[in-house]
Parts: sequence; structure tokens; C-alpha cells
Amino acid sequence: MRPINRISLRTLTISLVGLLALLAVLTQVLAAQYFRGAALAAQHESLTQVVEVASAEVLRQLDTQLLLLGTEFQARPAFKNALSRFQREGEREALQAALQDPFTHGFSAARITDLVKLRVFDTRLQLVAESTSAISFPPSLPSALLKQASKREGADRLKAVNALWPWEHRAYYSVLLPVGGLKLLGYLEVIADPSINLRAIERMTHMPLTMYNDNGDLLDHSIDEARSREGMLPIEYTLFGGESEKVLRLVSLSNVNQLNKDWQQTTWLAVIGVVVLIALAALLVLAILNRFVFKPVDAMKQEMARFAAGDQSVIVGTHMLFEFAVLADAFNAMARELAIKIDQLKHLSRYDSLTTLVNRQHFDLCIEQEWRRALRSHEPISLLMIDVDHFKRYNDYYGHVGGDDCLRAVAEILRQVVQRSTDLPARYGGEEFVVLLPNTPLSSAIALAEEILAIFQQRNLPHAATSLGRISVSIGVTTCNTAEACSPSGLVESADSALYEAKHAGRNRLAVAGEHGVVSSCTDCSCIDGTQKPA
Ligand code: GH3
Ligand code: MG
Ligand code: MG
Repeated sequence: MRPINRISLRTLTISLVGLLALLAVLTQVLAAQYFRGAALAAQHESLTQVVEVASAEVLRQLDTQLLLLGTEFQARPAFKNALSRFQREGEREALQAALQDPFTHGFSAARITDLVKLRVFDTRLQLVAESTSAISFPPSLPSALLKQASKREGADRLKAVNALWPWEHRAYYSVLLPVGGLKLLGYLEVIADPSINLRAIERMTHMPLTMYNDNGDLLDHSIDEARSREGMLPIEYTLFGGESEKVLRLVSLSNVNQLNKDWQQTTWLAVIGVVVLIALAALLVLAILNRFVFKPVDAMKQEMARFAAGDQSVIVGTHMLFEFAVLADAFNAMARELAIKIDQLKHLSRYDSLTTLVNRQHFDLCIEQEWRRALRSHEPISLLMIDVDHFKRYNDYYGHVGGDDCLRAVAEILRQVVQRSTDLPARYGGEEFVVLLPNTPLSSAIALAEEILAIFQQRNLPHAATSLGRISVSIGVTTCNTAEACSPSGLVESADSALYEAKHAGRNRLAVAGEHGVVSSCTDCSCIDGTQKPA
């Protein structure tokens, strides 16, 4: 048996339905995954815009604050005096002290900014003096600011300019504003660290914020970023300086736990929904297949098995789907054809082709059956064994074809002489015939044998090679009154002995074998129960 033969249609269908269900669930899970990705991407994009707007707003506010701070600082008498002294006498110390004063004694205008340095430049943008706070910068304006300021002319020089710029991996925000009103004396640069102000993005966006410098190092963070990454979507935004250089990288973390939870819930619901739907569809499909495929095919299988077991009456039902009906029709046609062929074969195997009488094989079966019946019914069973006399001579004289005709004539006489449907004439072999007579006592068997002899006499069929001049037969007659006392083969042997006796006694006669052996033979006589009587 090949592996494919072990798989039934039902198993294959159920496996395929299972496979489809699995694929559907997998597709559902993949689709849910894809939609989650799309949702996260959309959220990321919109939140990036939020962070961008928030950081722009923060820098705008910082710019305003530094402008105010610078303006207020300029109005300080100490600064004004120090500046005029410097311009008159070149005295720098007083100017430096004035610039350092807000860092030493505090300055109310600087309370909401992380003021880092105050610097004064002359009208040619050369550094004049600066506060002496801890951080030291190169003695020139940051290049972004210098570019903006140096290319201005006329009244434009009285406008303030600003820039975000990096220095030693930290971010700084500078506002450069004119000093001296309409009569330009120089410039005041207010430098602040924007980190404190940028932290306001957290409050504006309701998302924790982490800042990295241009080198990628962590500058400042409100919460432990590694811990916060769990269920958080990082929203990255880069702040560029006036020279388009990267100054700060802002990473806001959006809590997507709820989205994940919703996504998981939706996925489960979708998967369960698909499974339930597929299960229902599968049940429906299986029920339909069961009704229109599995059951008819099973029935067909059983009918075919019955046919294979020898029941030729089988007809496969054709009330089924088209292809199966065609198959069933083809099978039925084949079965009918086969049944006819089997019948023909059976006929061939039962009948003798020359005489069309039952042949030796079938006679053996019949005598066995009849003997068993006699056993049950306690009825007598008789047998005649008939042999054509001098048939060899007949053959030699009339030729084989003539011999065949003679055998056919003998068969015809035997067929004609039997009375009952249960009487069975058969060709035993060569020119020997038998007549099986169920439920027949010896007297009736002898009477039949005599009738046969009489018909041959009456017909007077020519046999020129014998002294009698006609075809004659010799007949051995036997009867078994109690089947228990004999057997089918015993019956045949007994009839054969009687036939031998008839031949021995001169042919054209019958001889009778009772249950106790041969008792008589006669020509044209009546022999009843072993008693020889004159004709
Ligand atoms: P007996 O009177 O003792 O029976 O002599 P017999 O010649 O009839 O017997 P024997 O057994 O000597 O010869 C039988 C012959 O029958 C021999 C055989 O050629 C012939 N025979 C057997 N079967 C057929 C057959 O089918 N057709 C023909 N034509 N002849 C057959
Ligand atoms: Mg013979
Ligand atoms: Mg013979």
C-alpha cells in the first residue's frame, strides 16, 4: 500500500480545511501587525510635528526673554557709565565688572533663563569685554551670528539677530542686540543655555524628553530612558544651528501602551472571529461534502467491495454529484459487462462444448450436492453410466467428424429421455455419459436405462462397423438408497463396475449394481431390484 492510499478523502478534506484556517489566522495576525506598524508610523509623524512646533515655540520665547534681558541690562546705569568710560578712556575693567555683575549679584530679568555669558562687541563686531563667568568662548561672535550681523548695513544694523550654536558639545543660544539706541555704540551679546527652556517641551507635549548633544551624548534627561523605552515610542527631532549644523537631538517618548493593549485586544478578537467563522464555514462545508461526497463515495466503496466479493447483483446508486454519477454509471456498465462475461465463463466451465451437456467438472459438483441432499432427505439417489459401443470403430469408419455427430445424437437422446428437472444428463468423458437421478429408486433408474436402450433400438442409427449394424450403448445402473452408506465417488465407481459388466456381457444392454455390488446384466430385459426378468 502506497502512502497516498492511506489517506482518505475525508482526512484530506479536513486537513485542507485546517490548513486554510491556519493560513487565515496567520494572515489575520500579519494584517494586525501591519496595521499596528502603520498606526505607530502615523502617530510618530504627527508627534514629530508636535515636537517641532513645541521646540520652535520654546526658542521663540527664549529669544524674546533674551532680548528683554539685553534691553534691561543696557538700561542699567552701571553698564551705561562703564561703557561711556571705556569709549572715552579705553577703561575695560569697569565694563567687565558691569558685565559680570548679574552673575555675581543676580539679575531679576535672568531668572527664567540659564544665562551663560554677556559680551560687548564694538561696531566692527570685535570683542571688547565679556563677563568672567566659568565658560570661556572663542573671542569672536559665533560664526552664524557673525554672518548675519556683518552683512547688514544702515538701519538694519540696529535690529537684533539670534542663533543657536554648538560649542564643545553643548548648545548655546545667542541674541545680539545693538547698544546705544539710534547712535550705535556697539553690540551686546546675551548667551544662554537653552536646555532649561527646552524642557518646557515636556509640559507642552506631555511626553518625557531626552536631549543629546551633536556628538550623540546624553545631555539631560528627565527619566531613566532604558526603563522608559518599555511600551514607549521614541519621537526624534533634531535642532539645527545657524550654520545648518546638528546642535541638539531631542527624543520624546510617547506612551503606546494603550495602543499596544488595544492592538492585542483587536488581534485576539479578529483571530477568534476568524476561527469561529472558519469553524462554522468548515462545519457547513464538511456537512455538505459528507452529504454529497463522503457518504455516496462510502456507499459506492461498499457496493464495489460487495461486487469484488462476488455479488454480481450489485448496482451502484447514481443519485450523486455529476462526476461520481459518471463514475458509478461507468462502474455499473463495467459490472454488467463483467457479469455477462462471468456467466459466459461459468457456462463454459460447466458445459461441454461438443454436446452442450453438463461437463465432468460440473457433474462432480452436482453429484456432491445431490448426495448431501439425499443425506438430509433420506431419499434414494441413482446414477446411469452410459458408454457408446464400439465407438472407436465408428470413428475409424465414419471419421472424427462423424464420431462427433454421433456423440451429439447420443446427448440429444439422453436430454430427451430425462423427465424431471432435477435429472441431470452429463458428458463424463470421451464417449461416456452419465445421468444423475436424484430421489429415484433403482426400479425407476432401470426403467430409464431400458428406455434409453429402446430409443437406440428404435432410432436405428447406422454403425456399419459392427455386426449389430446400428449404434448401441451399454449402461451401468446403480442406486444408493441410504446416502450414509455410500459416497459420490462410490456411486460413480459402482455405476462404472455395472457398465463394465454390461460390456463384458456383450454390450447393448444394462447391468445393475445394487448397494452390494453387481447383481445382474441383461439385453432388452427388465431388471428390478437386482432380479433379472425376461423381456
Ligand atoms: P467399447 O465398446 O468397449 O466401449 O469400445 P470403444 O471403441 O467404444 O472404446 P474405446 O475406449 O476403445 O474407444 C473410445 C474412442 O472414443 C476412442 C476415442 O478416439 C473416441 N473419442 C473420445 N472422445 C471423442 C470425441 O470427442 N469425439 C470423437 N469423434 N471421438 C472421441
Ligand atoms: Mg469408453
Ligand atoms: Mg465405447
